[in-house]
Amino acid sequence: MRTLTLGMPRLRAALDDDVAAAVGAPLVDRFGRVHRDLRISLTDRCSLRCTYCMPEQGNVWLPNDRILTIDEIERVARVAAADGITTFRLTGGEPLLRRDIVDVVRRLAAIEGPAGPVELAMTTNGIRLPEVLPDLVEAGLTRLNISIDTIRRDRFADLTRRDRLDDVLAGIAAAAASGLRPLKLNAVAMRGVNDDELVDLVAFAMAHDAQLRFIEQMPLDAGHTWDRARMVTREEILAALRERWTLTEVPGRGGAPAERWTIDGGPHTVGVIASVTAPFCGDCDRLRLTADGQLRNCLFSTSEFDLVPVLRGGGDDEDIDRMLRRCVARKLPGHAIDDPGFLQPARGMNAIGG
Ligand code: SAM
Repeated sequence: MRTLTLGMPRLRAALDDDVAAAVGAPLVDRFGRVHRDLRISLTDRCSLRCTYCMPEQGNVWLPNDRILTIDEIERVARVAAADGITTFRLTGGEPLLRRDIVDVVRRLAAIEGPAGPVELAMTTNGIRLPEVLPDLVEAGLTRLNISIDTIRRDRFADLTRRDRLDDVLAGIAAAAASGLRPLKLNAVAMRGVNDDELVDLVAFAMAHDAQLRFIEQMPLDAGHTWDRARMVTREEILAALRERWTLTEVPGRGGAPAERWTIDGGPHTVGVIASVTAPFCGDCDRLRLTADGQLRNCLFSTSEFDLVPVLRGGGDDEDIDRMLRRCVARKLPGHAIDDPGFLQPARGMNAIGG
């Protein structure tokens, strides 16, 4: 366990000076954004090594005793749900690498907030799904997003540095055969890597009764090699798809990251998450909890709010609530990727929780 530098009474006093506890009140920031979505990273480990996310070697993993336990995650999640969080999304790293994943799902799915039971979603590379999906569904998982950037074997092996396309395809087949809907497939569009495959990826998703969502590549790679001039933009993605289909915008996006279009009048849809060229920060309702207990109010924030002293130092629910409010109160209006002074966060996407 991490050594505490500030005893709980002093930490509580410091937090109290900052924000008052209000368990049960909505988490509203300075710009009126009400927070309803908590992304919970369960581990920084992954079975793949996607080039745009993790280095091939030299990862410094979080030590096991720094990873939140199932009890600690549940405590935070309960307070968050009381404060109006309605969706938990499990992510990582690869959430299915966590040995107690079915129990994590069972515990979190049982949580109710003021508006009723929470929604429990997961973002995964799908590799372990054939093995565990029935148990996850039985435990209360309600939605799945599976990441797949290419359906070509050689390309997959190059991009993920692992020859595991067949495992991912089996995971997607298992998800398609399950009752979990809507099923979403995520693909990061990358120039010279998979930008000739955009139509094929959408057709693949449709064949699996899934919605493909293209993600603009963000500056979150471990190697800090992201280049705005090279990224494939929302406009380029839409232009490529429009060569094959008629796309009609679906209204009523709300706080969702993806804009959606029906394909040839529907029922299938395709989405684009244009975090870089069309940021949606004004409607952001998301908070993040890293696997080592840090609250973050943005993927790109350079500061974190440490729940470990609260969780391991005898703090109560009001202390967790204060930390959530402190994190929300400090949220900036936008991610500022385009600002000249933008700094890429020190953690890679696998350690933040995508
Ligand atoms: N292992 C799980 C998976 O593969 O979905 C969950 C974690 S992964 C970090 C979550 C999502 O983040 C994936 O869809 C991945 O493609 C996306 N991602 C990672 N790095 C990214 C980057 N630099 N830009 C955009 N998306 C990224």
